[in-house]
Amino acid sequence: MATSTIASTKNEISFQFEGSDDAQQERQRLLDSISKSAWAHNNESSNDFRSDFFTKPTLPMLEAVISTSLGDGDMGEDATTNSLCEYVAGLVGHDASILVMSGSMGNQVALRSALKAPPYSILADYRGHIINWESGGATALCGALIKMVVPSNGHHLTLDDVKKHAILSETYYDAPTRVISLENTLWGTVMPLSDIRAISKWARIQDPPIHMHLDGARLWEAVVAGACTLREMGECFDSIQLCFTKGLGAPIGSIVTGTSEFIKRANWARKHLGGSTRQSGVIAAPARVAIDDVFLGGKMKLAQEKARRAAALWEELGGRLQFATETNLVWLDLEKSGLTLEQYNATASKFDIKVGEPVNGRLAFHYQISDEAFVRLCEFFRAVLKPTS
Ligand SMILES: *Cc1c(COP(=O)(O)O)cnc(C)c1O
Repeated sequence: MATSTIASTKNEISFQFEGSDDAQQERQRLLDSISKSAWAHNNESSNDFRSDFFTKPTLPMLEAVISTSLGDGDMGEDATTNSLCEYVAGLVGHDASILVMSGSMGNQVALRSALKAPPYSILADYRGHIINWESGGATALCGALIKMVVPSNGHHLTLDDVKKHAILSETYYDAPTRVISLENTLWGTVMPLSDIRAISKWARIQDPPIHMHLDGARLWEAVVAGACTLREMGECFDSIQLCFTKGLGAPIGSIVTGTSEFIKRANWARKHLGGSTRQSGVIAAPARVAIDDVFLGGKMKLAQEKARRAAALWEELGGRLQFATETNLVWLDLEKSGLTLEQYNATASKFDIKVGEPVNGRLAFHYQISDEAFVRLCEFFRAVLKPTS
């Protein structure tokens, strides 16, 4: 039996193969093409601070794709997908879950499943992803009024905010609040568990109970920061959307968890959106590697430490932040730091680091940011805040 190994800077896979000379040659050709492919060169994400989705899938993820089951995901026949769904539902303590293509699809599937007969409204923080980054999906797909709330403490929604803005009256003027959609983390900030619990408890004693949805695209980060456990979140919410591509580094996919009854409705909403897929193991297999290797493997914690160190250095050098760094996102206040966007971007490009769009002034730390790129980021901070000339 012959063994062949493909290694890139940070990860490797090896294959063992047997068979005729022809078959071996064919395998060797495949291995050669993998080692020349984008899969073997994932270090191009090592200097990319634009977002935590600027990661590259790894060779172990490719290996998982190669060894996945290939049953039909739409018909619920794929073992790898079913096992991932069971696994994630177990992590948050919900009955069931459903694989979707993206975080936006996950939120939209969840909202569509929670909302039954109009008129209705969704209460959410005005900064929420469902409001600002999903092309008006909840309005287009659900016909829901979105009640945008500005947190009175300037950081996160509290029960007082929710009580003040929820529509509980059901006269013919009203679009009653049927969903409270929270986000954790939101812009990298953590929502305190005590406030989530208070809102959840209140929502559930309303008549009818108000559905609690969590946009947990970056919930992993809150857990890594020690703010809550997945189970504690599971107890507070009726549905949770979690991204496999933000911070976790999988190539595709998100998941929505909930009761079995809710996930049955979610299947229908996902079908409407064209999000049911055939050999979904190709998506589920690398997602599982991402959870085990990056989240449980402790790699996100190291990225958060880099974020904290970067924020501290920025302030030490006299720079200002828009708000405190609680997880993996650092929000520089360019204006208050005396910088124009042009100066900032032009200087960054000299240090071989990528910053800027989609969110200017924000730095995202993911596990593939290298120590070398971090050093260059620090040099960039010094150059842009303390120019020598
Ligand atoms: C990224 C993100 C999503 C979903 O994004 P997709 O690009 O659709 O996967 C949803 N919510 C939040 C808070 C996000 O940051």
